[in-house]
Amino acid sequence: MSFHHTVQATDGPARAGTLHTAHGPVQTPVFMPVGTAGTVKAMTADQVRATGAGIVLGNTYHLMLRPGADRVAALGGLHRFMDWPGPILTDSGGFQVMSLAGLRTMDEGGVTFRSHLDGSKHRLTPESATEIQHKLDATISMVLDECTPHPATDAQVRSSMEMSMRWAARSRAAFVARPGYAQFGIVQGGTLPEMRARSVAALTGIGFEGYAVGGLAVGEGQAAMFAVLDCTVPLLPADRPRYLMGVGTPDDLLGAVSRGIDMFDCVMPTRAGRTARAFTSTGVLNMKNARHAADAGPIDAGCGCTACTRHSRAYLHHLFRANEMLGPMLLTAHNLTYYQSLMQGMREAISEGRLASHVAAVRAGWTQGATS
Ligand SMILES: [Zn+2]
Repeated sequence: MSFHHTVQATDGPARAGTLHTAHGPVQTPVFMPVGTAGTVKAMTADQVRATGAGIVLGNTYHLMLRPGADRVAALGGLHRFMDWPGPILTDSGGFQVMSLAGLRTMDEGGVTFRSHLDGSKHRLTPESATEIQHKLDATISMVLDECTPHPATDAQVRSSMEMSMRWAARSRAAFVARPGYAQFGIVQGGTLPEMRARSVAALTGIGFEGYAVGGLAVGEGQAAMFAVLDCTVPLLPADRPRYLMGVGTPDDLLGAVSRGIDMFDCVMPTRAGRTARAFTSTGVLNMKNARHAADAGPIDAGCGCTACTRHSRAYLHHLFRANEMLGPMLLTAHNLTYYQSLMQGMREAISEGRLASHVAAVRAGWTQGATS
């Protein structure tokens, strides 16, 4: 079976569909929890599945440094290693090299860096990033690119984008095609519509199973991000999945799905869950806030997660105040369940042709509850 995306319904630019992969199907639009080092932090694989997640993300940078791609391959690949038989998408490692590693030097060939763990020297090239993801057995691999810094001059945006396109061609040449597996190209070009269009043209000329929009959620703001999507998404092939990397807040997801994006990943729900912040249908709550101390009600009345069906806000408040590890575990489960419910609600609304009114209703809900 070849990797492909079928669109079952559209509502304006928004699409509801199915991603068919070697590791099973995934309904889109989809949110992928981030399993950085072979684990979605604070969650067992069964707990991640219970939130409704069908695909997770792994970080090549972390896994190549520890335990190493060869070790993961020898142990049967990342699916077996982390008990996730379903689809896994891995990033190329490039973004995290730029944000985490020390002493980076970039040249046309690739990027040389020192590990943030032990200072050891490593080099990532389009070819090696592709090979590492193959060893990890990623269902969906990403090309190595340079995430253009923000802000940048027009000349910097252009030269960075052009190098990323040369790297995309090299990544593609190194990719070993297998039935049901995919490699996605990444559109760069900052906030310049002409550069985005040239990037799309370069990538579609190479040809990938899917296309990601990269270089966003790096401080440009939601309005600029949506403006980039408005000029970029219509240029992407309608028969390929579209992935907005590293995004975002629940409100970002509503806006990006409405603009035709099919796939997302972000550390936000898991990171927030570890720091006592709860995403709910009535807004964001801080479970450490004293107003929850004696509240017998659930975090979110409509939520079916363990935290909401079995425990009170008061209990979550107590766990975080006492620094008990169950607090982050329960709240991560809740936040991921909330994100999955948000995507499920949009899939249904797209299928029924009522996405705009659905988005308006979800946003109205967030303004009803007192936040914090
Ligand atoms: Zn819940």
